[in-house]
Amino acid sequence: MNLAAWLGRAAKSSRDRPAILADNRALRDYGGFAERSSRLAAALTGPLGCEAGDRVAIVSKNSADYLEMLYGIWWAGLAAVPVNAKLHGAEIGWILENSGARLALASSDIAGDVDAHRPATLRELIEVGSADYAKLFAATPLPLQARAPGDLAWLFYTSGTTGRPKGAMLTHRNLAAMSFAYLSDVDPTMPGDTLLHAAPMSHGSGLYAMAHVCRTAANAVPASGGFDPDEVLRLISDRPGTSMFAAPTMIKRLLEAPREIDPATIRTIIWGGAPMHVADAIRAIDRFGPRFAQIYGQGESPMTISVLPKTDIADRDHPRWRERLASAGIANSAVEVMIADFHDTPLPTGEAGEILVRGDAVMPGYWQNPEATAAALRGGWLHTGDVGAFDADGYLTLMDRSKDMIISGGSNIYPREVEEVLLAHPGVREVSVIGRPDDDWGEVVVAYVAGKANAGELDALCLSGIARFKRPKDYVFVEALPKNNYGKILKTELRRQDAERARATNRDAS
Ligand code: AMP
Repeated sequence: MNLAAWLGRAAKSSRDRPAILADNRALRDYGGFAERSSRLAAALTGPLGCEAGDRVAIVSKNSADYLEMLYGIWWAGLAAVPVNAKLHGAEIGWILENSGARLALASSDIAGDVDAHRPATLRELIEVGSADYAKLFAATPLPLQARAPGDLAWLFYTSGTTGRPKGAMLTHRNLAAMSFAYLSDVDPTMPGDTLLHAAPMSHGSGLYAMAHVCRTAANAVPASGGFDPDEVLRLISDRPGTSMFAAPTMIKRLLEAPREIDPATIRTIIWGGAPMHVADAIRAIDRFGPRFAQIYGQGESPMTISVLPKTDIADRDHPRWRERLASAGIANSAVEVMIADFHDTPLPTGEAGEILVRGDAVMPGYWQNPEATAAALRGGWLHTGDVGAFDADGYLTLMDRSKDMIISGGSNIYPREVEEVLLAHPGVREVSVIGRPDDDWGEVVVAYVAGKANAGELDALCLSGIARFKRPKDYVFVEALPKNNYGKILKTELRRQDAERARATNRDAS
């Protein structure tokens, strides 16, 4: 089945219902959205010569054109390669080459940069909004092209907190399973609801569009094309019944925004993509009410590994409410989740090990990378590289990425539990805990802290909350922590900077 069939159906059943909003202005109804997508499909397969299965890249920040491009590509039976527009031109060029994209559609702010780094394999680069782009919509509509469930729909380049990004192949089946599970587990969207694309559509937020098209909800794209907390709060107030995906750093920024809104206008804010510390989650619930759900997923099983449902987050009287807030919830309906040791042997409840996933949402592999595919999908399970443990009720607590775990004096220390304690200090804005190589201990715990606090206060907090051996041996106060383009803290970069600091200190001392 072609995912764009949901759009074809909506164009008939809900022709006049708003589908795409530019800011809060209705730009396309479902009839218009489907018509433009089918015209673009005709141009892609006609004059532009794309053939079934060819990849077409979209390099654009969020825009009202985005979904027409995505669905036009699918309508034509092609595969989309959404590229993060915040990447460096050379990184974009690398993805274009690796994906073998035949054609790229790039927004005007970035088209020049893409052109400067375009690989020889890219036959055509068209600037969104140009006369050439407008011409694509003059073609006679193409009928929806057939696709098999296992055909490639979206080549999802991982955010690459280490090394080169890899292209996770997401099929029509993967994205359909992901969308059904979203509607049953995360947010049972109704026709007429709104999805606000405040996070990048090339990544987190774009994946939410499919469930919303399936339910004929509206997709609103902020005029800024980025994340502006004040704009987001204004847009939510304008349209009661709005949901959105927000990474934890975005939720923190919403909390700092002065604009007051009626929280009842929020339908659901879904957080995920990185750990949300409990203190921040409680601040968010206090300000906006129990209108949150959490998802845990990764590009290889998009949005779909576990879910902490809204009802759990709202259940403040539950004796284990805080524990549950600190967890990533229960296994998502579309997958099975298992905790295993290094030999893939299942571990008992309560024991920490690598999180493995299998089911219809899990990718069939990485694009043209059989070694990485074989390693990731060993034994039919996706090896997430995340460490976690289930409790007796089936709630999954994520410890950390396996490589982030600190081993000090033979004891395993998960940075997240130390970070949770430090974040309880009201002056701490951000914190990241890493291991520093040490001759005596193997590694010692080091906390990088942004905010107003001193080492004595932080130490006292640790002593009141966690074992002595987990306490940071050193606190480094910084303005901000290194992050990637998705706002994820780069522990690898922090470890590198820390090693450099240590070298400089040794030099000064000698
Ligand atoms: P990406 O493939 O860029 O979406 O990154 C996926 C990774 O982000 C996962 O493997 C986890 O390490 C992390 N992650 C995703 N969701 C959560 C969550 N809810 N809590 C903590 N970490 C998360």
